[in-house]
Amino acid sequence: MEKEKVVIIGSGPAGLTAALYTARAQLNPLVIAGSQLGGQVALTSEIENYPGFFDETRVPTGNELVDVMHKQAEHFGARLEFDEVTAVDFRQGSPFYVKTYGQEYQAEAVIVTAGAAPRRLGVPGEEPFIGRGVSYCGTCDGFFFRGKEVVVVGGGDSALEEGIFLTKFATTVTIIHRRSELRGGPALQKRAFANPKISFIWDTVIEEIEGNETVQAVKLRNLQTGATKRHPTDGVFVFIGHYPNSKFLEGQVQMDEHGYIITDELMRTSVPGVFAAGEIQDPIYRQVGTSVGQGVAAAMQTEKWLSERE
Ligand code: NAP
Repeated sequence: MEKEKVVIIGSGPAGLTAALYTARAQLNPLVIAGSQLGGQVALTSEIENYPGFFDETRVPTGNELVDVMHKQAEHFGARLEFDEVTAVDFRQGSPFYVKTYGQEYQAEAVIVTAGAAPRRLGVPGEEPFIGRGVSYCGTCDGFFFRGKEVVVVGGGDSALEEGIFLTKFATTVTIIHRRSELRGGPALQKRAFANPKISFIWDTVIEEIEGNETVQAVKLRNLQTGATKRHPTDGVFVFIGHYPNSKFLEGQVQMDEHGYIITDELMRTSVPGVFAAGEIQDPIYRQVGTSVGQGVAAAMQTEKWLSERE
């Protein structure tokens, strides 16, 4: 069993920031980075709203931001393991037990920043066509839809932003929304409405995804009239929100009814010595900026908690 002072679970903006701060506080943090360095942000096409990360000539990508954060954290001494946490035991208090696929750790303090994952539609055809036409990430898969027609599901900022991004590749992007009003912010709405490749189908849900080797069509149902129709398409991009990656923490820390970890204003969880930051405890803001701020706070409180014990 490896003994660690601070284990950080997750490598998104909250985790990498907590790593930077705890490293600079000489706590020699270990980051269990998961399979995707940077979490969801690494898959985000464009970052326009993170202060201090700006280029007048082009919009930088999420991956570029993650790269800088990673380098900065490592430069100050953070160590990263590309592994996933499979179980924890916080019930006896500190030192806490953390198990990954490859290793077992004892940690004096833990910062949980495991983030959130995209929600699924839960309709027939969705699961079997993942990777064969169904996607949850425009940045990752948009390229495969060059010259093709795609649909996007959702009416929030993600659906609009990713829909706009997908017009770089697809010939048409049809946004299917279950209401007649978008949830996304006005700036993104304006850009989406002005984009000649984007059209909307309102008050409509997908009932089924059809195809052979790859997706060929979606079966739509109008929620106002109940009418159904088949809409041919090559791809289905789903952006209908997220759920927290907190399953491995069930029974260990207090969560709300959706599985978000409950923290106080000092980023403390219900277990002394276990802190949480980023989207795993924040269903409201979900911004890089807020995750970074929460990561700073969690790291500073971890340092304080450890020093008060000594
Ligand atoms: P969201 O704001 O929760 O929007 C989810 C959308 O999916 C809503 O339009 C919702 O419809 C729809 N939806 C939910 N469940 C559905 C289902 N089962 N079937 C069909 N449609 C369904 O999620 P998000 O767009 O991922 O954004 C999450 C947060 O991140 C927001 O705070 C957002 O502002 C932020 N964000 C910001 C940016 C940016 O600033 N550039 C980019 C991306 C995300 P209803 O509208 O009817 O509820």
